[in-house]
Amino acid sequence: MARKNDNRDDRRKPGFVGARDQTQCRFCRRGIKYVDYKDVETLQRLLTNRGKIYSRKRSGNCAGCQRKAKKAIKRARYMALLPFTA
Ligand SMILES: [Zn+2]
Repeated sequence: MARKNDNRDDRRKPGFVGARDQTQCRFCRRGIKYVDYKDVETLQRLLTNRGKIYSRKRSGNCAGCQRKAKKAIKRARYMALLPFTA
């Protein structure tokens, strides 16, 4: 069966893991040990335009950094720096 959208095909190639082609995640590369909830610019890159958090596969974060980012985003939401939903 033919796919509706052919340009999606190269994302489906076996072995392609998206952002994880890079050796380190964005936080590890910069040597960040604490993800600051006040750093809205960085955290906003991890959100969809509807305010949802990107998956680890999509953001390229390692497990530890994704967990730190998750906490920071939720903290930032509570402090009204980021939206719960948009
Ligand atoms: Zn990391």
